[in-house]
Amino acid sequence: VPELPEVETTVRDLRQMLIGRRFKGVTFQDWERMFATHPPTVMSQLIKGEEVTGLTRRAKYVVIELTNGKSLVFHRKMSGNLFYRHTEDELEKYTHIIFGFEDESELRFSDLRKFGRVYLFLDEKEKLDHFAKLGPEPLEDSFDFAHFNAVLSKRKGALKPLLLDQTLVVGLGNIYANEALFVSGLHPLRRAETLTEAEKQKLFLAIRQVLEKGIENRGTSLSDYLDGNGQKGSNQEHLFVHFKKKGEPCETCGTPIEIMRVGQRSTYMCPTCQPLSSGQ
Ligand SMILES: [Zn+2]
Repeated sequence: VPELPEVETTVRDLRQMLIGRRFKGVTFQDWERMFATHPPTVMSQLIKGEEVTGLTRRAKYVVIELTNGKSLVFHRKMSGNLFYRHTEDELEKYTHIIFGFEDESELRFSDLRKFGRVYLFLDEKEKLDHFAKLGPEPLEDSFDFAHFNAVLSKRKGALKPLLLDQTLVVGLGNIYANEALFVSGLHPLRRAETLTEAEKQKLFLAIRQVLEKGIENRGTSLSDYLDGNGQKGSNQEHLFVHFKKKGEPCETCGTPIEIMRVGQRSTYMCPTCQPLSSGQ
């Protein structure tokens, strides 16, 4: 499942390849439900002739900025991947939508599970409205501890689901939430309202640390994630707890890793490094 580091890696790759290219239109293969804002033929007409002026990321969205204030926005959900290819290159499995450029290259949206979505926003306001409920970006300077502390202090309940809900902070999914809780020494079921200031500080730093490490390693490829060139990332080789086998020893203390279900998500944790009781 692509989380912030996987989306950021894709955006950085595609930025090099897409900027300056002009869209010819959309070739729809199947599964029309992936078009979130316009039917394929309408979207095709609206992007025809528009040039790519920039690529950015917002939370787990890939944002392709176009001329005339338009933006093409992708959410990959469970298994979506974006590949930049020449029209003559063999089609990847599960390619559902193809965005063609005038120079016979193309951007392909492949998605095994078909939960991925593409949005076309016609101006800045439409785009910002769509992103209105998202929390702050964890890797930007504006995400400082004072802000994090203030928002977290108003929240109640178990930490794990809180990290996933995209209003406290964006970009964390199951993998990086598990990792951040391990690095900060906090139990996934620890209640937010019981955290000390020192623990909140640890969590704040851990979120950044695990995301930055994920980007350095070009993302985590445990199942379907591939970068813009179709290559796997390597962060799966550097995870502390996520995706360990049950009973495998914690790298820090040797205690067997436990796997529990929290909010229907597999939660990997070390019962020694992450005690449920309040810290000091
Ligand atoms: Zn441990």
